[in-house]
Amino acid sequence: MSKTVDDVVESGGIEVIIQNESEKTAPRCPHGPALLFEKTGHGEENGRRFYACSACRDRKDCNFFQWADEKISEARMLAREEQNRSKKPLFTHQQYCSRFLEFASLPLEQRRFCVDCQLLILPGEWTNHTKHKALSEDVTVQRLKKPSLLLSPLDNKKSNAQYLFAERSCHFLLDTLCTLGFRKLLCVGTPRLHEVIKMRNLEGKSPVMRSLLLDIDHRYCQFYGQDEFCRYNMFNHHFFDDEEAVKFFQGFLLEEGGEKLVMITDPPFGGLVKPLANSFSQISMTWKHLNKVSDASAEMPMIWIFPYFFESRILECFPSFSMLDYQVDYDNHPLYKHGKTGRKQSPVRLFTNLSPKDIILPEAEGYRFCSICERCVSAGNKHCPKCDTCPSKDGREWRHCDECERCVKPSWRHCSSCGRCALPDHPCGQRQTGCFKCGSQKHKLRGCPKKHNKRMLVSDDHGAPGLSKHKAGKSRAKNKRKRRAT
Ligand code: SAH
Ligand code: ZN
Ligand code: ZN
Ligand code: ZN
Ligand code: ZN
Repeated sequence: MSKTVDDVVESGGIEVIIQNESEKTAPRCPHGPALLFEKTGHGEENGRRFYACSACRDRKDCNFFQWADEKISEARMLAREEQNRSKKPLFTHQQYCSRFLEFASLPLEQRRFCVDCQLLILPGEWTNHTKHKALSEDVTVQRLKKPSLLLSPLDNKKSNAQYLFAERSCHFLLDTLCTLGFRKLLCVGTPRLHEVIKMRNLEGKSPVMRSLLLDIDHRYCQFYGQDEFCRYNMFNHHFFDDEEAVKFFQGFLLEEGGEKLVMITDPPFGGLVKPLANSFSQISMTWKHLNKVSDASAEMPMIWIFPYFFESRILECFPSFSMLDYQVDYDNHPLYKHGKTGRKQSPVRLFTNLSPKDIILPEAEGYRFCSICERCVSAGNKHCPKCDTCPSKDGREWRHCDECERCVKPSWRHCSSCGRCALPDHPCGQRQTGCFKCGSQKHKLRGCPKKHNKRMLVSDDHGAPGLSKHKAGKSRAKNKRKRRAT
């Protein structure tokens, strides 16, 4: 294989093409059907389509690449199938489950966890791991109930770093959902939450909630049965155990006896919004179908946890969503951890189709209810009568600029030569009439071929104010208030 995704991306922008039905014809890498992309640069390869791994941003993890119009030889096909087989986990989910039962029945001194292999090992296997690092502490029953503490968080910077919720964010989420009457949680990429739900059920202090975890991290097969964990790829809606896992998934979505279900997801932040939204819509459609929801506009209740600077892109896919001010805290995130020396502001928010006025944010953390906006806002988020909204996205107090006719970040100043507010040290001089990203006068940022360059996020402070105006037509009236504020 000569080309990789990175080579292609180097030479221009790319866009992901969502095509549901033909998914089955997409070639497969170890992570399920590949995603289809299109080159958007001005070069000779503009418009050319290719398939690449849906889950891995880093070619070291998966270097799958294929031009859409490429003919694949029989030999390469076989090599690929072999590769896909070799990347499967050591055991099947069922095997992992029986190993767990055997492991749990061992006396404490015979229970070992291999840190190098991230595997619970049985006495007969010890010899294979003698050169490996074993966990020094005892693997008690209590520890087996908290696999997120036993396993080392994945820390691949590019694709799936695992950032675990701080205790208080877990309890805030669960208390809130419990109060709203939800008794079933579909946890997509939220292993810590799944674990905390189970702990709370055991403690018996709050109503019992059921949870199904969907995550790509196969290490969880060791701890959870097939009725509570499915290995799943949220970028292509792929279940690794096919029909068997789908059966458990569908069984869980079915709301028998009026048990209300909500999905909660915390995808990797480098992830592409469109494929994620497509998977979540498919989950929602399955939910509607199974529960015979006839209202065409009805959606499964969802909470999507993501940084605030993705607001416009998420609302574009889900116009019914709103972003809440609640700042999600993590235990192991180097930047968003709420440390001893005071709180670093987390940029991570909740996006949801639940009604914002029903979600009461903790007063003890400074949130208050704005009766005009009818939602809880952070302490620094003051209502602006001119914008008719509480405009702050980052929790700081924003300032209204009369010339721009909107509220802006406190660090921004109005620049008369640019005709808009910007950071004091912004590249000034050329009036920014063209594209904010590449400087071209031929298009605006929204039409910029380099906009999604590197499949990475456009960050906030230097991002263009125009970005948030780039909206789905349908939701215009509904989101008018919000748009003026961004
Ligand atoms: N805050 C969450 C963890 C979020 S980290 C918690 O505390 O529970 C992101 C999670 O998404 C990880 O568990 C990771 O394994 C999972 N993940 C990463 N890529 C994925 C993919 N393609 N499909 C499904 N899950 C994925
Ligand atoms: Zn892959
Ligand atoms: Zn080992
Ligand atoms: Zn204002
Ligand atoms: Zn201004």
